[in-house]
Amino acid sequence: MMKVAHSICPSCSVGCGVNLIIKDNEAVGTYPYKRHPVNEGKTCRKGRECFKIMTENRLKEPLIKEDGLKLSNWEDALDTVASQIKSYPSHEIGILVSGNYTNQEYETLKKFADALGIRNIGCHTGSVPSSNLETVALDDVEKSEFILIIGDVIKKYPLLGRRVILAQENGAEILAVDEPDKTLTGINSQEYIQVESASSIIDEVDDIILEKLSPQSTVLISNLESEDDFEKIVKFFEQSDAKIIPVFQDCNSRGAVNILPVLSSDDMKGMLERVKLLYILGDDPAPHMMESIKNLDFIISQGYLINKTTSISDVVLPGSCWAEKTGSFTNTTGETQEISKIVDAPGAALDDQIIIKKIAEKIGLDL
Ligand code: SF4
Repeated sequence: MMKVAHSICPSCSVGCGVNLIIKDNEAVGTYPYKRHPVNEGKTCRKGRECFKIMTENRLKEPLIKEDGLKLSNWEDALDTVASQIKSYPSHEIGILVSGNYTNQEYETLKKFADALGIRNIGCHTGSVPSSNLETVALDDVEKSEFILIIGDVIKKYPLLGRRVILAQENGAEILAVDEPDKTLTGINSQEYIQVESASSIIDEVDDIILEKLSPQSTVLISNLESEDDFEKIVKFFEQSDAKIIPVFQDCNSRGAVNILPVLSSDDMKGMLERVKLLYILGDDPAPHMMESIKNLDFIISQGYLINKTTSISDVVLPGSCWAEKTGSFTNTTGETQEISKIVDAPGAALDDQIIIKKIAEKIGLDL
């Protein structure tokens, strides 16, 4: 039987609505979600193909390392995880999570860490500023008279880019700033300023640009590798009257920031030097972190995809992807949107909150 179900695209932080076409408990395509306020029925290629995430490269059964990773079952995997966690003092345990979990999952993970007294916990979700961020309406981007864009927003976040193009059609002036010779955003702007590095962006903002940063203008800030630069640039533009939109990397980076500490590369490096056991959930961290992770005593990984972390783990717990669970995501402009479970997870994979609670139960905690 065929059905169409509303969801939110999980492939970037814009939070577009997408309809999933479901046939016999399997997503087989997408269909425009015309009334969705973020993207008004439009999607980019990543959005149209997001249903593929649910079937490609999936983890379906628990795995335990014994001379290589071997298929296991939940009872043995959870027993191993619980006994390993119990065998380390809390300061030698670390928890690392990526930016594509739901707000409710972050809350459950936080409760779990608090119950065990684990302080080494955080999210790796690309660099994010730590200043208090206001919610901005996407419609304001479209109504802007002047838009300053740092990074290739039109290419990387196409449905946010669409609002920029619509603003331009309404007469807005667009100024793009970035490091490469040419970017898609630059090509679509009236002016493109090439900078040597992210930290020199502020130096390029002269009095003429400052005058244009009125309440009718918007500053979109993306692609900043270093959180120091990100924070400095957000703080600089916050002094103006313009609306500021930091463009986050993952679908729920902004939700994660609201609930858990966000770890910079240095924070993460420090954590990996302190801990011996790591419980890591979701996407791989940056490639240069993998070497430090590999050297830890014990690695428990949880997620829905087979990735680099899976291959170096001692226990692998198969979790769910976004359309297999209920919860909420907070998009890059600060809007929180609900998602509902549409299909069952494949094989023995479980809802991630259930997995965390089952581990807690085995340890003797009541979350
Ligand atoms: S812009 Fe982002 S959220 Fe929107 S459809 Fe594309 S990948 Fe998905």
